Amino acid sequence: MSIQLTEISKTYGAQKAVNAISFEAKKGEIVGFLGPNGAGKSTTMKILTGFIQPSNGSVLVSGINVITNPIEAQKKIGYLPEHNPLYLDMYVKEYLQFQASLHKVDKVKVAEVIEQVGLSVESHKKINQLSKGYRQRVGLAAAILHNPEVLILDEPTTGLDPNQLVEIRELIKELGKDKTVLLSTHIMQEVEAVCDRVIIINKGEIVIDKPISELKTDAKQVIRVTFDYKLEEQFIKRLPNIKAFKNTVENNWILTFETTEDMRPVIFDFAQENGLKILGLNTENKNLESLFRELTTQKTDV
Ligand code: ADP
Repeated sequence: MSIQLTEISKTYGAQKAVNAISFEAKKGEIVGFLGPNGAGKSTTMKILTGFIQPSNGSVLVSGINVITNPIEAQKKIGYLPEHNPLYLDMYVKEYLQFQASLHKVDKVKVAEVIEQVGLSVESHKKINQLSKGYRQRVGLAAAILHNPEVLILDEPTTGLDPNQLVEIRELIKELGKDKTVLLSTHIMQEVEAVCDRVIIINKGEIVIDKPISELKTDAKQVIRVTFDYKLEEQFIKRLPNIKAFKNTVENNWILTFETTEDMRPVIFDFAQENGLKILGLNTENKNLESLFRELTTQKTDV
């Protein structure tokens, strides 16, 4: 196992930021770490990377005890903190060479990493001349310079525009092929697009730890559809895999299906067969998003 966190707690005064959490992650896995603000994500990541000490529990990274042997463990870890700390007055290449010297990494490696993260064109610029997307690439480049087995990325896509977001996600996926990646984010679609597994943390406790593939099978598919005239319920009941339906106004329906098959083409065929026209159709992303709300608000209410 690349990451083994066992019964980790962290207390600040009277407050438990993290309460006896345990999880493991192996090579080739990209794990999405989700939770509302203040849930304990950054605290967990800082403990994992040896930046802060837990009050209790044990942390192993690539079999090395992070608490008793942080320096050795950090050689196995690449960490991109939430507020990517860069020296803005340095040139990209100069900064990465400086980072390489800290890690005692051969400078030849810098050119290789610049290429790998797609920074070649920008590498002659000062960091403060770069867009947020390219600054994140510099942060990622610095994190992977020493070829760590484990990558800890704290909200790596926050503040990126949609194009940069796609590019950084692709890069993370590529890097994740032969590493273990723990990625915190607020964006559900990001977890679905990039991760193999999701861990949701709420009020310092893990409330779910599941492969994405299992979430998709559990998931219900909710589609809002507007036909060109009012239908009787008995027609709607004929749709395959239909589990629930609601006629909101006039010709609008909220249809819930229990299947992993994309039901949109089926609805189009159904409309055509029944001489109907579809005036509107939207899929609601119910799966991870609704699960997140369910698991993290439930707890707040108690
Ligand atoms: P997240 O990253 O999920 O937003 P954090 O791990 O930053 O959550 O914080 C978890 C809880 O611990 C929050 O209630 C936060 O206020 C508290 N906390 C974090 N760091 C400190 C600190 N240095 N001192 C006191 N409380 C802290």
